[in-house]
Amino acid sequence: MSARILVVDDVPSNVKLLEARLAAEYYEVRTAQSGPAALDLAPVWAPDLILLDVMMPGMDGFEVCARLKADRATEHIPIVMVTALGESCERVRGLEAGADDFLTKPVDDETLFARVRSLVRLKRLLDEWRLRAETTSQLGVNLSQEEAAPSVRGTRAVGLVVDTLEWQRVAAALAAEGIAADRVANGVEAMALLATLRCDLVLLDLRLASEDPLRLASRLRTEEATRDTPVLLLAEPNHRQLLFRGFDLGANDYILRPLDANELRVRARNQIRRKLYQDRLRADLAYSISLAVTDPLTGLHNQRYLRGHLKSLLSSLQTGGGVLAAMMLDLDHFKSINDRYGHAAGDAALQAVASAIRKQVRLVDTVARYGGEEFAVVMPGATAADAAVAAERLRREIAGLRFQPHPGVIHPLTISIGVAAIGADAAQDGEAAAEALLRRADEALYQAKRQGRNQVVVAQNEG
Ligand SMILES: [Mg+2]
Repeated sequence: MSARILVVDDVPSNVKLLEARLAAEYYEVRTAQSGPAALDLAPVWAPDLILLDVMMPGMDGFEVCARLKADRATEHIPIVMVTALGESCERVRGLEAGADDFLTKPVDDETLFARVRSLVRLKRLLDEWRLRAETTSQLGVNLSQEEAAPSVRGTRAVGLVVDTLEWQRVAAALAAEGIAADRVANGVEAMALLATLRCDLVLLDLRLASEDPLRLASRLRTEEATRDTPVLLLAEPNHRQLLFRGFDLGANDYILRPLDANELRVRARNQIRRKLYQDRLRADLAYSISLAVTDPLTGLHNQRYLRGHLKSLLSSLQTGGGVLAAMMLDLDHFKSINDRYGHAAGDAALQAVASAIRKQVRLVDTVARYGGEEFAVVMPGATAADAAVAAERLRREIAGLRFQPHPGVIHPLTISIGVAAIGADAAQDGEAAAEALLRRADEALYQAKRQGRNQVVVAQNEG
């Protein structure tokens, strides 16, 4: 997997030099010699990392960085700013603009490649989440894209810092960013706290004396609770080798002593912002999946989910033995509710029936809105007789609802129900068995309709 790196610098010899070094490590490199050229190329070529010169005529690196981070098409691409000046205020300004790191010219190979590897790995992770989000949108689920960037406020950090005095400065710098922080003394305490507390950042001091800080960094990466939590290393200037190993073990960023409170604040913020972005992709995905299987009006599962679920239940039924029943239910004279009281009243009637069904069934049962005014319930472990009892109870419950389409107006609701069951002897594959079961329940339902509605009909066993 060759990563794509975009090199942006106004001086042709700088571009050539970086290009040659990166190409020698088998990275795929494209170059841009101005800010506007970079802004044109980045969304089209979709690099995995951008190395961005700060001092450029016209549009400087800070502005290019801020623009890339403000664009949904490029916000997830890591940016490393490269500058001849090593000033702390410059670094903070670059980080404020959303840069992921800051390297000082001349850039040594070891530092360059350590950062490139670590940031490309991070980018790959985000790409995976973005891809999954795209897949669900192909399922026909589209989330609104206008949610604001997630806020860092109200987030929480855990710090493993040796020195008390320094911890007070760290906590104050984080507090200025709205990040609450807890200090722990060692790895055991840290893991215990992280197992129970939501945490958005871990600060790990490489001076940690009680244990190997890198072992801890690696453990944070393997534990479920902290796998995606950013790790920020606090390092001495002579900790270079430790830092490089830390990056290879999955640490996300670092800050060198003496601690600059502003730089710490901004690095912490950038790491947390990236984590929240990842959390948002994950939440969007879970939400998209739930939308794909849920009926929005009633909150019940939809037909797609019910059929899939029934199929897997029936497949396992054949190996495990046992029985299963299904009910098809239809709200009687639904059209007349819509005609007389309007569609809002029709919706309310469907919601009332859905809620009554949900209250009556067991936790193991699956309820779905099957379509229109039709519902289905799948009852694992239930025989036809069990399901018939449950169906009759449900029919009575709904007939007893005092549904009010308008204030002061009571409109009676009734349902017709068809019940069918299947046993382990039904030697068919899951899909065919599911189709047959639903078809028999549906036929029983139509018989109930023909016989005058508001009643339960149980399908005869096949064969
Ligand atoms: Mg320049």
